[in-house]
Amino acid sequence: MEELLKWKKIGVMGGTFNPIHTGHLLLAQWAMEEAGLNGILFMPTGNSYMKDKGEMLPGSERLAMTRLAVADRDCFVCSDLEVRRGGNTYTYETLDALRNMYPQACLYFILGADCLFSIENWYCPEKIFRNCVLLAASRDGMPMDKLEAKRQELEERYDARILLMAFPNLEISSTDIRHRCGEGRSIRYLVPDPVREYIFQNHYYENP
Ligand code: ATP
Ligand code: MG
Repeated sequence: MEELLKWKKIGVMGGTFNPIHTGHLLLAQWAMEEAGLNGILFMPTGNSYMKDKGEMLPGSERLAMTRLAVADRDCFVCSDLEVRRGGNTYTYETLDALRNMYPQACLYFILGADCLFSIENWYCPEKIFRNCVLLAASRDGMPMDKLEAKRQELEERYDARILLMAFPNLEISSTDIRHRCGEGRSIRYLVPDPVREYIFQNHYYENP
């Protein structure tokens, strides 16, 4: 990840990526253009203590799919920082670590509207806001004025720096993709082809 030492504006795209899908990739691309980022670091979570464990593939597998998804792009890089760290994943720890690894850069943490509305329940939100600019995208048709109100609230309460991004409403989620696999339906175009083949070969999500 030497190339990241040259990047002045690093996008951080965190997620469980169970599995990674076209929505994540398009969001990263969108953010890069919108904020003039040099590139995006994709960061699959280790243990997501806030998510249902039953449906969760191990970190190593979600990492493998994320690597496949970004393999054809120099400015998209996959990090194993959270998966390797083990234990619960706390975003503030990740951002602290990235700050130290890439002191030359400004970090932009990319997230969808659902996460902007839950971020106060994450561990130590004030430490998250301290180390990054948030780049928040609309999702599931949430109106921009609701997002704008949340932005103002968080900026006042935490001195956060938040940029809002109008993003086309894509009804794509990992939950839906897992359901489709369970029902034997196609996930073509919802995930990159190498990821689709990997899921198929490993029989992931077939028995919900
Ligand atoms: P799940 O259904 O398992 O929660 P997900 O599709 O929400 O999966 P996550 O890995 O939970 O994917 O999300 C990672 C990040 O990507 C979050 O910030 C989420 O808001 C954002 N995101 C995922 N899908 C979209 C989408 N279609 N539009 C906008 N943001 C999205
Ligand atoms: Mg989600």
